[in-house]
Amino acid sequence: MHDPYDILGVKRDATDDDIKKAYRRLSKQHHPDLNKDNPKATEKFKEINAAYQILGDKQRRGQYDQFGAAGMGVGPAGDGGFGGFDFSGFQGAGGFTDIFETFFGGASGSRGRRKPNFRGQDLEVQIAITFEEAVFGVDKKLSLTKEISCSVCDGEGVEKGSKIVDCSECRGTGEIMSVKNTILGQVRTSSLCHRCGGDGQIPEKSCPQCRGKGTLHAAQEVTVRIPAGVSDGTTLRLSGKGDAGVRGHQAGDLYVHLRVKSSAEFKRQGDHISTEQTIHVLQAVLGDEVEVRTVHGPIKLRIPAGTSDGQTFRINGKGVPRLNSSTLGDHLVTFHLEIPKKLMKSEEEHYKELAKLAKLSTKSKDKSFFSKLFS
Ligand SMILES: [Zn+2]
Ligand SMILES: [Zn+2]
Repeated sequence: MHDPYDILGVKRDATDDDIKKAYRRLSKQHHPDLNKDNPKATEKFKEINAAYQILGDKQRRGQYDQFGAAGMGVGPAGDGGFGGFDFSGFQGAGGFTDIFETFFGGASGSRGRRKPNFRGQDLEVQIAITFEEAVFGVDKKLSLTKEISCSVCDGEGVEKGSKIVDCSECRGTGEIMSVKNTILGQVRTSSLCHRCGGDGQIPEKSCPQCRGKGTLHAAQEVTVRIPAGVSDGTTLRLSGKGDAGVRGHQAGDLYVHLRVKSSAEFKRQGDHISTEQTIHVLQAVLGDEVEVRTVHGPIKLRIPAGTSDGQTFRINGKGVPRLNSSTLGDHLVTFHLEIPKKLMKSEEEHYKELAKLAKLSTKSKDKSFFSKLFS
């Protein structure tokens, strides 16, 4: 079995207050409602509660210190108790079940009760970035007006020197139970405690700055790290960057929707980038080394003799970095032939020479020469 001191992360000589604080912090952090994506959270949460069952009770803590796990009625290994603990001895004492049901709403009569949500709100923003920023990644600073943790009380909502106590109205359960007599018999109903809002705990004296809420509405700068290779419409989730939670409860998340501006020069096709450029007809006929502009800078590309109009060449690894990978997409360049509109006298002579060689009358409408040249 695990050492309850280790589970709560407290020293052997920790005060009751330290233990309670550690328990409150950890149970918030690992609360299954707040960790729906993490199937292990429930186990962890049970483990934390189990540890607190021992250390939060003077008598049991004394027994544990004196006899270790043996003093706690732990069954043989693998008997299926929560994390190796045997809770049967505790149920009657009302410790474990009470806490468990408070959190999971399992108590009779409390089914269907809307649980209060002290977690901070999720926020969303949309930001526009340039084509190049999407390719290479960028850090963007945003100024957001949101609920931030109160600096006076460190988000606890408690005045200095005061502490968090069980709500006297609901005795720490967060709900008020009432029994009504009806013609069908007694009906037990429960409602959220109006004093603590269902938290079960309230500051003994509220922080004067935030009035006990633990948060303030203010502007805060948030840096959004945009990874290389994002595309238009990507949404990033920044965990815990939404509104701060009430009295130290978990903060909400920030969702950042990205709009990528288009580029006059480059087009994106997934991880590949394409461009179009013109080359002189003679470069196409004879072949040449041409400069191709990529997002990574100019590249010299050897094009073969006989390159056609509209022909596309692939330059490996000069495209967009792939997300979560060290590889890159490719650059695709498509060439269009530029036919000289006006020839100098000497050039015209040369073209005529060529036409003669190709046994082509310069006056004929025969397209065979041009189709060879331009297709
Ligand atoms: Zn405060
Ligand atoms: Zn209450």
